[in-house]
Amino acid sequence: MHFKTLLTTCLLSSLCIAVSAQDNSADSLRRDFGRMSVSSSRSTGTPFADTLDTENPGVKVILFSNGTFRYVKDPKAAAESKVFTEHWDTRAVNPYHEEKSLPDRFSLWIVDTLDSYCCPNKTRPSSQFGYRHGRPHQGIDLPYPTGTPVYAAFDGKVRVSDYVGGYGNLVVIRHANGLETFYGHMSRRDVESGDWVNAGDVIGLGGSTGRSTGPHLHFETRYRGYAFDPAWLIDFETGTLRHRLMRFRSWYFNPNSRYVMTEEDEDEINRGDEEQKKLAEEKAKKEAQARAAAQRATQKYYTVRSGDTLGKIAKKNGTTVKALCRLNGIKETTTLQIGRRLRVQ
Ligand SMILES: [Zn+2]
Repeated sequence: MHFKTLLTTCLLSSLCIAVSAQDNSADSLRRDFGRMSVSSSRSTGTPFADTLDTENPGVKVILFSNGTFRYVKDPKAAAESKVFTEHWDTRAVNPYHEEKSLPDRFSLWIVDTLDSYCCPNKTRPSSQFGYRHGRPHQGIDLPYPTGTPVYAAFDGKVRVSDYVGGYGNLVVIRHANGLETFYGHMSRRDVESGDWVNAGDVIGLGGSTGRSTGPHLHFETRYRGYAFDPAWLIDFETGTLRHRLMRFRSWYFNPNSRYVMTEEDEDEINRGDEEQKKLAEEKAKKEAQARAAAQRATQKYYTVRSGDTLGKIAKKNGTTVKALCRLNGIKETTTLQIGRRLRVQ
């Protein structure tokens, strides 16, 4: 099967069409692609050459012209996911109106091998989750000098970007697992509702707008409208994500329930890690298969004809004699037999 024939996958072609309408430069293509993709890998600045399908219809491999590749979630598949359509309200802070309680226990993948994470701010929180002066504080406050960039914690789609009462300038991002992260009191918002963001993208600047006594970032984590202490997920002092696979209990969503690491939880979470390890191993195996296919697809061969020289072959195939020698383990002085297959890419 020729993977190159997959060049016209809807993913790439629809993007090309969308982008060529305004600006056809590789830069613009890369920028828009990066925006739509849910993967957080940083752009290498290399134009991409092709896309390949994988066993998972929601996942593609992008081949770059320098032979490297990376996985991306198909933005079309992500856009069609119910997570980004149901209870999607660009104005309401909490669009989950129904009084549906959460199960006693459930697990969520926080990041998988295609998603990424960026700590909003590695610092000791200045105010914790839970009741404060008799009113619930649904997030955690992180010291944040005005004008400091605020980063998206995970890949996702901006649901709300608005000035909202006590929150001031607020951005709410919904993530593919259904979690939402809130970023409040910003001095400036740099994203709009509907924007796709990657972990680590700048979404605004720190500030003190709304009900705030000084510059800080009010950071919330919610699931189906229910807030829980972000410290269950993130150790802000070290900046690390505690677990890739998070096991929740319904009491985490009590407005007064702060993060505590008990031995029992630790045991449970470790068991979760075992489960995660198994799943991660299966994923790694599938990825290795896709990687092998990607590598095969980047290889190109040329059959030597009468009158060919290494110089001519290199020119015809847009490469150099040196590269040909390296790829085929030959010397510049090697005699080329007619009919020999040389790898040119
Ligand atoms: Zn706060």
